[in-house]
Amino acid sequence: MKRNLERLANQKFDVLVVGGGIHGAITAWDAALRGLSVALIERGDFGSGASQNSLKIIHGGLRYLQDGNLSRIRMMVRERTTWMKIAPHLIHPLPCLMPTTQKMSRSRLAMGLALMANDYLSFDRNQLDDPEKDLFDGMIVSQRELSRILPGYDVSTSTGAAVWYDAQIYNSERLLLEFIISAVQIGAEAANYVEAISFLQQGNQIIGVQAKDLQTGQIFDIQSKLVINCAGAWMERLLEKAALYSEYATSIAMNVIVDQVWSDVAVGLTSQPVNGKPPQVLFIVPWRDKSMIGTYHLPWTDEPHTFKLNESMVQKFLDQINSAQPPYELSLEDVRHVTWGFLPVNKADANKEHVNLTRDGVVIDHQKKNGLSGLISVLGVKYTTARVVAEQAMDLAVNQLGMKTKKCQTHTTPVSGGKIDDFGDFLRRALAGVPRPINKKSIEHLVYTYGSEYQKLLECVQSRPDLARRIDPPLPVTVAEVQHAIQYEMALTLADVVGRRTELGATGLPSGTALQKCARLMSREFQWSPERQQQEIDSVIQDYPFKKMETTTA
Ligand SMILES: Cc1cc2nc3c(=O)[nH]c(=O)nc-3n(C[C@H](O)[C@H](O)[C@H](O)COP(=O)(O)OP(=O)(O)OC[C@H]3O[C@@H](n4cnc5c(N)ncnc54)[C@H](O)[C@@H]3O)c2cc1C
Repeated sequence: MKRNLERLANQKFDVLVVGGGIHGAITAWDAALRGLSVALIERGDFGSGASQNSLKIIHGGLRYLQDGNLSRIRMMVRERTTWMKIAPHLIHPLPCLMPTTQKMSRSRLAMGLALMANDYLSFDRNQLDDPEKDLFDGMIVSQRELSRILPGYDVSTSTGAAVWYDAQIYNSERLLLEFIISAVQIGAEAANYVEAISFLQQGNQIIGVQAKDLQTGQIFDIQSKLVINCAGAWMERLLEKAALYSEYATSIAMNVIVDQVWSDVAVGLTSQPVNGKPPQVLFIVPWRDKSMIGTYHLPWTDEPHTFKLNESMVQKFLDQINSAQPPYELSLEDVRHVTWGFLPVNKADANKEHVNLTRDGVVIDHQKKNGLSGLISVLGVKYTTARVVAEQAMDLAVNQLGMKTKKCQTHTTPVSGGKIDDFGDFLRRALAGVPRPINKKSIEHLVYTYGSEYQKLLECVQSRPDLARRIDPPLPVTVAEVQHAIQYEMALTLADVVGRRTELGATGLPSGTALQKCARLMSREFQWSPERQQQEIDSVIQDYPFKKMETTTA
């Protein structure tokens, strides 16, 4: 996958997608699968917006039982199965647990009924042939069982726990990238660090965008019959360039990564009212050898780019967590990393302290709404539902283009790396044939990360054993992966490699030695000067505002 700005400037595309978050990535893949010519531009790196910061849960919709919106739950159940089918290496079942209490709404009876309804509404969830993807029925467990599952948890106020299954994204940045790689493999053109700066317009028709290559400053036009605005929190900023507006504003959502609280199970705990926030369910999710806790919501009415995370915001989140679980007293010193991003709210709710998130993804037809053809906007609210929202956007796009195309195929076509029928069996066979110079743990890491494409990386290290060296032990990431990211995956900055191509930065700032090694590898390809290498390292360090808690820096 290489940037080809000449093709972007010289070809007229059927569809141009602006924004390389999960919604843009799947929209481009959908368009390419339907046989349309498609380009995607992203002004940062692919997935560097909200998509990089999710809690990695593919929700089956249990929480929406309280809204009584059964069609939303059914849709989420179907999508969860679809994710496990099209990306079996990157989506896996996740056991979840919520302690039951004497309070009626959290009682064994109420939670037991909710689990029964959840099982009933997801009756068809185990239709995949892959036994690794089976999601067992929900159940209520005793207080004694709860203390066995959550060692150290003070069970005195609990009457037991509700246990059910959802799914977790093993690596959401790679998953997003696999959609882009897949689209490019069948003819799409994609480029990171290219920003749409204005629209090309002829009367009431959008006919493309004026774009800026942020690597060189070069400005050029990209022509397309239709532009799909997948700019996430910046959707409105892009619309303003066509003198349009939407009903949506932004809010901030935040997760913290701390040392492991509990392994293997995601635990839902209800916070007490604190700092003016009403009680809220927070999830402590297993994340590699750490725990990720989310999600904290803050109103934000200013320009998205002016938001700056500070310690007081994080402390308020920690207060909320600590109110839910008194024996576990988290302080700023415990925070390894904070991930945050923007989520949409209705403009009418934008100023409210209690953030009222938009529940469903929206596809805006500007032809119908504003009389401006050639432009569709997509408002994404969940990673979980991104595929189905992209499908709706592309159905509308095809209709507007008036072209005869194939139907949507994203629900049945595996993404790059996803050609695996039975993940457990695939992994066992990969481990059985472990060749030198790579060990079982590294093979397992490659299979989970690259799926059916893991052989490509394996072949690299077999032909060049020096590439099997780990960048930042005990993390399993090898030199081969960094090389692969630079040569084949359009990684242009150190932050791309550390944060979105490999999992070097997934749980906190990598060591200074690791950053230097990666910067040196990149400078061989891009001829970076020592000053540029240092700038790249400094820029990664800035992405980890809580770096002082890390033991090593560059
Ligand atoms: C803290 C947090 C936790 C979450 N947890 C979960 C979860 O557990 N499960 C779940 O399902 N969902 C979760 N979500 C929601 C989910 O992550 C988002 O809904 C989703 O990632 C949004 O995707 P997107 O493509 O719409 O936006 P983004 O990922 O923000 O992508 C938009 C992209 O457009 C680019 N862009 C903007 N303007 C331009 C321009 N002019 N030219 C070119 N590019 C442009 C931006 O750089 C950005 O990369 C969470 C979100 C957050 C923030």
